[in-house]
Amino acid sequence: MKRIGLSLMAISMLVGAANAQLKVNTKAIGAVGKGVKAAAYSDADAARDAAAGVKWMDEHNPVADANDPYTVRLNKIFGKHKSEDGLNLNYKVYKVVDINAFACADGSVRVFSSLMDIMSDDELLAVIGHEIGHVRNHDSKDAMKAALTRSAVADAAGSQSGVAASLTDSQLGALAEAMMDSKHSRKQETDADTYSYDFMKKHGYNVMGAYNAFMTLASLSEGGAQASKFQKMMNSHPDSKQRAEEVKKRAQKDGLWKEADIKKIK
Ligand SMILES: [Zn+2]
Repeated sequence: MKRIGLSLMAISMLVGAANAQLKVNTKAIGAVGKGVKAAAYSDADAARDAAAGVKWMDEHNPVADANDPYTVRLNKIFGKHKSEDGLNLNYKVYKVVDINAFACADGSVRVFSSLMDIMSDDELLAVIGHEIGHVRNHDSKDAMKAALTRSAVADAAGSQSGVAASLTDSQLGALAEAMMDSKHSRKQETDADTYSYDFMKKHGYNVMGAYNAFMTLASLSEGGAQASKFQKMMNSHPDSKQRAEEVKKRAQKDGLWKEADIKKIK
């Protein structure tokens, strides 16, 4: 498999590319709503509301079509995991410059092309495993609840029909924005990392992919203006090198550590 060496120059080239940036609607966020009543908000509610937010994002971002090489590659990597762990997952590629991936409570996973550009298949599997972990652990439901509150559409979410039926385009945009801004706790991130490692191991994938993915993220956080923007995005996550070290410890314990498979990062 082709390993992509990563340098800061490569990063600024990615940023300078003519790709669109992830589109969200910041203007539509008004006053904070009354909040979502914790006890009343179910997994099904979160799935329904997340689906509405994702639909808006899909409509307002450049989604790679069925024949796009990015889609073909993600089909190969993700295709066999659509029913992973009892979940009903769907995935798409956003052709945007942001280096990211996210998962929502309805089982939607979105992987950004710029992340695919810098990661091998094994590394992407580790990222995908991490995102599936968030869905499986119900972190996405908590994030969705927080997003509803922040996007001031919480009141609408309390209605029987749910947000999808009642929100305007700009309100859905605000919801999508709040979903993208939702941060998980450190513990949720660590648990998702554990899930990711187990996912790799269970399916017989090279767990070095998880180590290399975190080292790749670590290299992005070092130096330069773009790095500081990336650092900001990663703030909710534990330190990337520390996450890599955790993988190393487990891999060594499991006899799955392969020194020769450590990615060369320029
Ligand atoms: Zn995460």
